[in-house]
Amino acid sequence: MAGEPQDDCLFCKIAAGHVPATIVRESETTVAFRDINPQAPTHVLVIPKAHYPDAASLATAAPALAADVLRETQAVADEDKLDSYRVVFNTGGGAGQTVWHAHAHVIGGRGLQWPPG
Ligand code: C5P
Repeated sequence: MAGEPQDDCLFCKIAAGHVPATIVRESETTVAFRDINPQAPTHVLVIPKAHYPDAASLATAAPALAADVLRETQAVADEDKLDSYRVVFNTGGGAGQTVWHAHAHVIGGRGLQWPPG
């Protein structure tokens, strides 16, 4: 069922506290933790605690929860005192998605090029 935890999902395990992560923020519905392979001085992932495979399915099935995730991306940027930052939802393998639990990358703390690679 949509939103239910998946036994084989790494980010469900992080959300449940069963896999360690460097958590920077937690709300009733979301968790934010530092990426283990940071691409910038700030590289934080914001996830909904509920399982949706990608941002599009999250936004369609649970728009209020998608808004919670977006709000938390700004809170992360505020905590790390970022004036400029990028929020990325890789969606699909061709775009680099490797974990099939919706997550926003919050990237900042250095100059960022456009377009991204
Ligand atoms: O967008 P994508 O699906 O590739 O992002 C997954 C991210 O999860 C990667 O940046 C990877 O470094 C991160 N990751 C993590 N902790 C893990 C496994 C993956 O932060 N235990």
